[in-house]
Amino acid sequence: MNGPANSRESERLDYCNLRLSDDPYDLGALVERVLASACIGQLETSAKDFKDIKRLNLSGMAIPLLREICAGRIGLVRHGTVYIIAPEGMPDLVKLGWQRCAEIASFYDCAIPPCLIHFTQDLTACDLVVRDLPGIALVTLRVDDLTDLPRRLDHEIAHILLMSGNRFLDEGLAVLAETCSGRQKHVAYGTPLPIPLRELLVRGEHCSPVFDDIIQSSHRDHALYDQAGTFIAHLRDHLGLGGLKTLIEDVARVAPVMIPHLLEARLGVSLDAVERRLFGAAAGTPNQVISLDELAQIYRRARVTGEIEPVTAVITALEPHRSNAQAAELLARCLAWRVGRTIATGRDVDFKAEEGLIAKIAGSLPSTTANRALAETLSGTLQVAALVRARDPFGKAIHMRQARQHLEAAVSLSEAEHEASLALSSIFVLAPKGFGQDFRRARELLETVARSPDYRAEADMLLSKIKTYV
Ligand SMILES: [Zn+2]
Repeated sequence: MNGPANSRESERLDYCNLRLSDDPYDLGALVERVLASACIGQLETSAKDFKDIKRLNLSGMAIPLLREICAGRIGLVRHGTVYIIAPEGMPDLVKLGWQRCAEIASFYDCAIPPCLIHFTQDLTACDLVVRDLPGIALVTLRVDDLTDLPRRLDHEIAHILLMSGNRFLDEGLAVLAETCSGRQKHVAYGTPLPIPLRELLVRGEHCSPVFDDIIQSSHRDHALYDQAGTFIAHLRDHLGLGGLKTLIEDVARVAPVMIPHLLEARLGVSLDAVERRLFGAAAGTPNQVISLDELAQIYRRARVTGEIEPVTAVITALEPHRSNAQAAELLARCLAWRVGRTIATGRDVDFKAEEGLIAKIAGSLPSTTANRALAETLSGTLQVAALVRARDPFGKAIHMRQARQHLEAAVSLSEAEHEASLALSSIFVLAPKGFGQDFRRARELLETVARSPDYRAEADMLLSKIKTYV
């Protein structure tokens, strides 16, 4: 349907001619021929077609632009089915426009339909896609902020490639595409949707104000966009890319009231369950946690990236379930890690809340050797926190001795108690000479820890500290 990509200059023009000779009322071909002929300098053809379009009373945002193009006042460049207008002196934008189109098309494994990308320096313009002319989508992008331009471009291009007609789903598709230009994928778990998912799907047509109302009334546009992206990522993970694309096509065909049923049939679970799983709670229902496995995954990922916030969210989600032995164990690990990480980043925090919580969970851990090691790690970690906070040398000495006792006990109970090894070696590395400093012992511990890929980064960081001191 999109016709051939270009290699010859006049290829798209020939293609439009062919379609129009088949069907003189093919408006899509007529509109595109205005662009295709202007691209290769055939302004007469362009102007004649534009006149026909005007005579047919076609209107829309693209009309004034087409008038300028066929009059030769605005130049444009074509790449396959993509027509690009860049401000004078900014030819790099043509390349950027085409590159991003190609990348997003390959991300979603889609053909690029005919589109006109208009980079404008008009600061009153908004980034948007309009399809009010047949056959061609018009993408308008402001070029004031060039660093953020690739992300915004990726977002709008995704809107051209895939379109369900439902705003929540379409914004999700666009937000997921932004990850191509390095946008961090946000985990929106724990933030309930402002209105139930079902309602966003049934009442969220593009012309309906539901989506915009939420954004304007609550100033939480980013949360809603992030949540839409999270939802689409979930659909892709469960249905595969092919399944997601088929679903989007089918959503575009059915009446909005049928969208929830369609999604439930494809996913094989109720939307309420999906909503609880992704956003912590269905809007208007009591909070429920996501699965222990997922929480454990979030913790492991955070340990690699060093981010504290996701772990705090995991701790909050786990706390009510601490009587469950597995939850208690994960909670203990998260707490130990968060204390250690907070100290390592030099933040001055008092750990009173942690102390209370640790005391509570220590009692609910089943008595195994691994858990005794974990309990020693927790006690040791708290002593490290106290050591960091202590103001006088006497207090520091006491906390250091107690921290070492607990952490040594943890390491001797289990060699796999890597949090303890890390805490202990940081004492050996950071303590003053003659007051607990022991590079040899630190190196021994760290070399064991570094063998576990999950902890390698932190172990390497401490090992490099030893090198700079020596
Ligand atoms: Zn959008």
